[in-house]
Amino acid sequence: MIQVEHLSKNFGDLVVLRDINLEISKGQVISIIGPSGTGKSTLLRCLNLLEEPSGGKIFIDDIDILAKDTDVPKIRQRMGMVFQSFNLFNHLSVMDNLTIGQVKLLGRAPAEAERRAAQLLKLVGLAEKAHSFADELSGGQKQRVAIARCLSMDPEIILFDEPTSALDPTMVSEVLAVIRRLAREGMTMAIVTHEMDFARDVSNRVLYMDEGLIYEDGPPQQIFENPQREKTKTFIYRIRNFIYHIDSPDYDLYAMNAEIEQFCEKHVLSKSRINDVLLITEELLMLYMATASVFDVYLTLAYSEKRDNIEIIFETAGERGNFLDAVDRNEIAVKIIMNLTEHLTYEYVNERNRLRMFLKEDRAREKNNAG
Ligand code: ADP
Ligand code: MG
Repeated sequence: MIQVEHLSKNFGDLVVLRDINLEISKGQVISIIGPSGTGKSTLLRCLNLLEEPSGGKIFIDDIDILAKDTDVPKIRQRMGMVFQSFNLFNHLSVMDNLTIGQVKLLGRAPAEAERRAAQLLKLVGLAEKAHSFADELSGGQKQRVAIARCLSMDPEIILFDEPTSALDPTMVSEVLAVIRRLAREGMTMAIVTHEMDFARDVSNRVLYMDEGLIYEDGPPQQIFENPQREKTKTFIYRIRNFIYHIDSPDYDLYAMNAEIEQFCEKHVLSKSRINDVLLITEELLMLYMATASVFDVYLTLAYSEKRDNIEIIFETAGERGNFLDAVDRNEIAVKIIMNLTEHLTYEYVNERNRLRMFLKEDRAREKNNAG
């Protein structure tokens, strides 16, 4: 239904969309997620011709909508858009908000437009508000009217740009419920949202945007439960990183430990977990130091707020080789590391040796509960 090829968009020197390739089929409900500033709104605005792309092509049913002779109002009618900030005519009644476009742009007779409007108001649960003024409504009601107004133009797809982020938290669910209903009825939709639970259960496809690209594209199970790529993981698991560079065997252990503690305390980790992390990093450094000829270590602590777990990534420069293989497994330092961590993996990437391990959480919690 919609095909996007090599779409790019920059604002002066700022490259927002680098190379977007995307196909949307009829009936798909697509959630678009990603950190702010990654171009999600810009993508929707390009699709809707509210922004002029810098390069690439957009087709709707094989019609090139970026061609010079495009009927822009017609394209906008086929692709409805719902904004964060409702964009209703506040001085008009709800009914007038819903009929004005139908009469002016679709050429419908006023009576027919009113019938359609009444039907749609019922659908969004606001039949009784037909004669209220838009500015008499709550935020949630306004957004439901905005959705009804969008539907009144018989769009083939609706693009939602964070439809609930301007709402009082108590009003989010009434708007999401309307969008859920449209999804059940087979409406094709692309929804930029920060409501992850909603995105997971309403959509059949999720796009994670980053680096000016659709960085990962997959079913909600993949994106939310088993993201494949690094930045998707960081976003989904809400990972906070702490990175410490050690470039000399005479590094300041106390300064490093103080920074680790500070990072862990910021994320409210228990004393026992902090002590475990300190112990593991110290043992790793000690074992590494015994074998290393160059001294260049990046220590990363990746704390997932979502999963409440900590990954320790120990990355060293030099020839390929896991220094843990070179030491005696019975050595106490190795035993400590093995005891306190799980899912230990080794890889060699970009001429660096990388050991990754997770702090064993159950044990840490038991210890914590025990006092
Ligand atoms: P998102 O919706 O993912 O938060 P946006 O698409 O709104 O991201 O914005 C992406 C980047 O483009 C941001 O850095 C924003 O400041 C910039 N941007 C968006 N619109 C304009 C504009 N009209 N002029 C200049 N910069 C813009
Ligand atoms: Mg946005």
